Amino acid sequence: MKRGLRLTPLGGVGEVGKNCLLLETGDGLILIDAGVQFPDKELLGIDLIIPDISYVADRRDRLRGIIITHGHEDHLGALPYLLNALGSRSRIPVYGSRLVLGLARARLEEHKAEHLCQLTELDFGAVLPLGGITVELFPVGHSIPDAAGLILQSAYGTIVHTSDFKLGEMPAAGLQRLTSLARSGVRLLLSDTVRIESPEPTPSESAVTETIRAIFAEAPGRIIFTTFASNLARVGSVINVAQEQGRFVAIAGRSMERNLAIAREGGYLSVPDELLVPLDRAARLPNRRVVIIMTGSQGEPSSALGRMAFGEHRILHIREGDTVILSATPIPGNQRTVSAIIDNLFRAGARVFYPPVTPNLHSSGHASRQEIGQLLELLKPQYAIPMHGEFRMMKLFQLLAQEKGLPPDHVILPEIGRSLEIDHNGIRSGGLIESGTILVDGLTVGEVNGVVLRDRRALASEGILVVAATLSRTSGTIIRPPQIFARGVPSMEDGPFLTEAEARVSRVLRNAAEIEPENRIVSEAVKSVLAEFIYQRTRLRPMILPVISEL
Ligand SMILES: [Zn+2]
Ligand SMILES: [Zn+2]
Repeated sequence: MKRGLRLTPLGGVGEVGKNCLLLETGDGLILIDAGVQFPDKELLGIDLIIPDISYVADRRDRLRGIIITHGHEDHLGALPYLLNALGSRSRIPVYGSRLVLGLARARLEEHKAEHLCQLTELDFGAVLPLGGITVELFPVGHSIPDAAGLILQSAYGTIVHTSDFKLGEMPAAGLQRLTSLARSGVRLLLSDTVRIESPEPTPSESAVTETIRAIFAEAPGRIIFTTFASNLARVGSVINVAQEQGRFVAIAGRSMERNLAIAREGGYLSVPDELLVPLDRAARLPNRRVVIIMTGSQGEPSSALGRMAFGEHRILHIREGDTVILSATPIPGNQRTVSAIIDNLFRAGARVFYPPVTPNLHSSGHASRQEIGQLLELLKPQYAIPMHGEFRMMKLFQLLAQEKGLPPDHVILPEIGRSLEIDHNGIRSGGLIESGTILVDGLTVGEVNGVVLRDRRALASEGILVVAATLSRTSGTIIRPPQIFARGVPSMEDGPFLTEAEARVSRVLRNAAEIEPENRIVSEAVKSVLAEFIYQRTRLRPMILPVISEL
């Protein structure tokens, strides 16, 4: 492209998660954020979902850098995968604040991808020329320290990208910077919308600390505390309260340990060494002297809390009189597992505190409708684009922006892959570029497709059936009669139904021996006869795997 500026969301609009925004000028490409999304149960066995960046990979030589706004998974988690997709021709500059880079480094080391990029710290307020525009980070209030919004200065005006923010705890420097920008004029605002359905601001972090302090003061025995491992502000408050009340702190869960170490190393949390004790020592200390901070606030079965609640933790077991604090609200989809954990904790004799039963026990990192309205009033942008939200949230933003005086055609609802062209005349929707989702399943990236998922769904809902038989290579006659092994198919695991199915397969094989077709055709015939027989009897269509060998 020659002139103008093109913005294309590659993820994170019309959905919550896998934030990734492409910026394109005549001088190059810039990616903002590299987030993952966690799959729901529809995607059986899928670990992660990441954005498809084929468009950028095809233009790899023009990519000037990747900017990460903060250390949450939905902004940082796909970085190793995206760097791998971009290849290793040269190190790609990755920019971010100090904590972001610390978290990114740990993630890249896990994936052995450090050599693919050049991590470069960007101070708040410093101006970085990149691909024909300038980029500046400004500090925002969010649930992780060092979270940044972006100020992008281009030939077509100033763009403010809030990324995740709330106004309630906005650092003064950030608010001042936005106020001064408003005076010089903001062309376009890109705003977080994920909490726009809540009219009022979230409780402040200090109100949450007060709640925690009160629960600690009343706790008769051990305290077990869980929140998002990335919520370092909350973890810091809990450590302070523990120190005040003479309790030692133990940490359980790999991501919690890792994030705490990075935050201490970077000077974001000051924790005296003598306050921290290993888990096995914590288990031997008097109950009243211990708090254990652990992973599991989303009910993850493999987390420390998950294993503890179900009696499967190596060291930790729930005891009568334990106090368990869940300082997080379940993400939609996790509600059932979180509830099951709470049930088990109560059953084991623990006192359990969780939202909303205990008020002010969690504070969101995102702006409410009221705060988004205040931001629109402060910045008075000419144009606005809602981001980081599902369609209805983006629509609510559009209506709110109109209430604040923006003309309807100046608020553009974005979609993944649809370019937005910005020039002196305005902002218009452009064409679609290659984009979409890539599924990550264990160590394979992108190889799980619709066929694999359909098979997994069939296995889950209809069961599986393996039919094995051995035929003579020379005559095609049956050497070992067919045997059927079924899992998850009612009345197929033994009994007369199974015997009859095996008899039908034998008949197919005997008929086949007369005309000696290829093995593949015999397999297909077995499959279709069995499928029809089972469907007639059970109305199920299990996966059928014929294993016909020849001797
Ligand atoms: Zn965030
Ligand atoms: Zn986010």
